[in-house]
Amino acid sequence: MTRKSLLSWAQDLPQPIADVLVMGGGATGLGVAVQAALEGRQVVLVEARDFAAGTSSRSTKLLHGGVRYLAQGRLALVREALRERGTLLKLAPHLAQPLPFVVAQKSRWSWLITSMGLKLYGAMAGRLGLGTTDLLSAATLRHLMPQLPDAVAGVRYWDGQFEDARLALALARTADTAGAAMRNHTRVTGIKREDEGWRVSLLDTLSGETTIVLSRCVVNATGVWIDALRDQALTAIGQKHNTAPMVRPSQGVHLVVERKTFPLQQAVLVPKTSDGRVLFAVPWLGATLIGTTDTPRDDAPTEPRATAEELRFLFEQTRISLGVTLRSEDVRSIWVGLRPLVNTQPQHVSADVSREHVIQRDAPGFVTITGGKWTTYRAMAQELMQALVDAGDLPSAQRPAQTDQHRLHGYIPDAPVTGLQQAPGLHLLGSDASAVAQLPGHDRLLGLGLTESLVRFSARHEWAVTVEDMLARRWRVLFLDARLAQQLAPRVADILREETGIDPQLDAFLSLSQQYILNNSETPRE
Ligand SMILES: Cc1cc2nc3c(=O)[nH]c(=O)nc-3n(C[C@H](O)[C@H](O)[C@H](O)COP(=O)(O)OP(=O)(O)OC[C@H]3O[C@@H](n4cnc5c(N)ncnc54)[C@H](O)[C@@H]3O)c2cc1C
Repeated sequence: MTRKSLLSWAQDLPQPIADVLVMGGGATGLGVAVQAALEGRQVVLVEARDFAAGTSSRSTKLLHGGVRYLAQGRLALVREALRERGTLLKLAPHLAQPLPFVVAQKSRWSWLITSMGLKLYGAMAGRLGLGTTDLLSAATLRHLMPQLPDAVAGVRYWDGQFEDARLALALARTADTAGAAMRNHTRVTGIKREDEGWRVSLLDTLSGETTIVLSRCVVNATGVWIDALRDQALTAIGQKHNTAPMVRPSQGVHLVVERKTFPLQQAVLVPKTSDGRVLFAVPWLGATLIGTTDTPRDDAPTEPRATAEELRFLFEQTRISLGVTLRSEDVRSIWVGLRPLVNTQPQHVSADVSREHVIQRDAPGFVTITGGKWTTYRAMAQELMQALVDAGDLPSAQRPAQTDQHRLHGYIPDAPVTGLQQAPGLHLLGSDASAVAQLPGHDRLLGLGLTESLVRFSARHEWAVTVEDMLARRWRVLFLDARLAQQLAPRVADILREETGIDPQLDAFLSLSQQYILNNSETPRE
């Protein structure tokens, strides 16, 4: 899949006017592209940076119904997410797997309440349940997790885990196979209304080329950045009248430590830290992931930074609630994502705002979608496409998409059931693994399971152009070990340049990766 110039890419689009142009290649936009393409629509998706470069590669990687929503009595929301969790585990078993979670409790009363709640949670999944909910004595808990501070008892329940950046690629490739025209490093710079639809201006951020694509419908799925494009569309139809922002970003920070620093066979949920937040420790790709925070922001930088207060919170809670004292050298990577929370009640604090999504049709054929979570991307996409049909923006689908049955790219029936807990390897590529093994350099290991042939494969088949595309998302080295990512970067740059003929932006990566490293001076002191 050689990267074409923007102009020849646009010329190759099968029709002069697309049915649906999706802006944004995160979970939400990619889900819409898959749904629309499988319905037989002519689909174009453009992503300003890279697939999942925004929030969608920075999640806690849990497919979950939301234990917190259960406590709030929002059962419909939990039921839908549990159904979606089960569906995804079926459609992409190489990238979505069951994971046991342990919750420790300090009093008999909270143990009773928690176990009843989690039993209900397990029962609500029905036949899509992933395992039994077990009560754990203090001795069993100590045996399973010796590092956890004293507890009177615990509960083990099941939820799902997934690899977010690779799942995004699996969606992109599924949409591509279904006929969608997918393009990363291509920013929407303007939207205008015309008689037959919308005229969308595009900029290739690598080459500087520009072009125009016409589409009957435009879907704004740009996450925390939706308001800028929505304003443009409203202005284009003369409707801009100080509309309140639809989204309120809330920042979440994760730390990654080596597995030996914090050994885990199952995930740990701390339902209420000393300041009332939720904290997870999750075994992920051979390391342990700890997070997250929930800090409201007024702005939405593409690479947000952790605040000193967030680092202090994570270090302190890892010590108090999880029983592990971290030193700065234990932290291999820090990364930060922005939740696109729906701005329904601006007076509320961020942690109380619903994660439910919103679909807003501001003009014929112009729809904005935001909120929700990764787990529910498929249900959100289905609802959005139905909304376009109901509004008369699109005719009924030529065929039912059946996205709940359609296996995602890379599907293999016999994926290792704990694959996402193990160090990264070819198992993450599912059915593509054999193709990678046939490319030159399959025996030349660069580090952390990454071989030369994997870089070639990603350049040829997964739209990888820059070192960041490769080391942040195709292979999660930046998110697992930022210093190692810096060491691998020059060789990865050489291979990418050889494959694509495009500047892989090595210097930009080296400067970005500094941000993922915890310096001694930033380390919170007790
Ligand atoms: C810390 C954290 C933890 C989370 N954990 C979980 C979890 O465990 N499980 C779960 O289910 N959910 C989780 N979520 C929620 C989930 O990650 C998000 O709901 C989801 O990723 C949002 O996807 P999106 O596509 O709407 O946004 P994004 O992924 O941000 O995608 C929007 C895209 O639009 C692009 N874009 C912006 N402007 C333009 C433009 N002008 N032209 C073209 N493209 C543009 C951006 O580059 C970006 O890639 C978490 C979120 C956070 C922040």
